[in-house]
Amino acid sequence: MKRRLMLVGATMLCAMSTLVWANSPITSTRPAERSGAVVLASNPDTTTAQGLANWVEEFRARALSQGISATTFDTAMKGASYDAAIIKRDRNQAEFTKTIWDYLDTAVSDLRIQNGQAALAKWTPTLNRIEAQFGVEKEVIVAIWGLESAYGTFRGSEPVINGLTTLAYDARRTAFFEAELVHALRILQNGDVTPARMQGSWAGAMGHTQFMPSSFQAHAVDFDGDGKRNIWADDPTDALASTGAYLKHFGWTQGQPWGVEVNLPEGFDHTVADREVRHLPSHWAKAGVTPVNGAFDDAHGVASILLPGGAEGAAFMIFSNFAVIEKYNSADAYVIGVGHLSDRISGGAAIKHDWPRRLRALSKEERIELQERLTAAGFDTVKIDAKMGPLTINAVRRFQQSQGMLPDGYPSLQVLEKLRNL
Ligand code: CA
Repeated sequence: MKRRLMLVGATMLCAMSTLVWANSPITSTRPAERSGAVVLASNPDTTTAQGLANWVEEFRARALSQGISATTFDTAMKGASYDAAIIKRDRNQAEFTKTIWDYLDTAVSDLRIQNGQAALAKWTPTLNRIEAQFGVEKEVIVAIWGLESAYGTFRGSEPVINGLTTLAYDARRTAFFEAELVHALRILQNGDVTPARMQGSWAGAMGHTQFMPSSFQAHAVDFDGDGKRNIWADDPTDALASTGAYLKHFGWTQGQPWGVEVNLPEGFDHTVADREVRHLPSHWAKAGVTPVNGAFDDAHGVASILLPGGAEGAAFMIFSNFAVIEKYNSADAYVIGVGHLSDRISGGAAIKHDWPRRLRALSKEERIELQERLTAAGFDTVKIDAKMGPLTINAVRRFQQSQGMLPDGYPSLQVLEKLRNL
């Protein structure tokens, strides 16, 4: 599932403040792609049809050694060809960057909310059964469906085997995509779908909720009882149930919110807005944090304060279910998009606080420069990968403290310029 990329593909990033994606605002990267395993293969011939044919021949032995039959392999791989357009998309995808507010404008648009309510109404009996079996609120499953494929409208029509073959043959992440390709062959061998019907995004995410083959193998279920796990059909029953199974597997807690918007008090200590700092809502209330809507409930468990747009943006109190949605796609913008869309489908209120819309997102080059300059200045980001994850956020926070800036950890252009002028 999580495999994103459609949104972002393998390169997706978990960014606190920015979300990078390839094309559609709808898709997201699947989970496995987040691994970002980069294999620096030295295959000198990675851009030609003959090179791909040679690679397929080598791969055949490896696939058969993993239990793929010769018949399955030869049938599925017949006609596999090098698709230069996929490689071009894969290499260019990280160039697109959005702020969380621009992302949410699209992800939780009025139209997507309306379409979500309509989809929920249409599939209510099925969703009720899924909710009862897996213990995951139907609105959350519908929200993932809405972001992954616009409720089944954009499920992807690329031949998955061909796309994965091209990406596995390409030298950048060959190990990751070869493993996904083997999973895809195993799905075919199992008879869940035919090669012709195994379609998906160019990066291999399939069906209504965009499962990568590995996620399919681990979590997909046959919920309509026809003996096949069919996430490709127009009928979304198996796909939606598989999404429920996926969230259940990663520890979804029924009845617990993903998060709630909060007001922070004057003089709030921004250093405690840290994923590692967790308290019961009543503890946060004593520190002056108040709910924007409703009341806090300690029965929801411990929570962290998240500032996805920095101190000037909306603040959220996030619970353990937040981390479960992250298993689908670890970008904060995505998780908040799913959570907030589910709230809105349920009739909940819009996010109340404004965002600092005058700020622009940092480009990939700027994010790398930020990490390099932070590390050089003694605030180690550990990785130089353009991803604004927790380690980079904390490095930004420590740098801000050293400069007497508000330590909200937000990787703004202002922070980068401060580093440039050290
Ligand atoms: Ca089925």
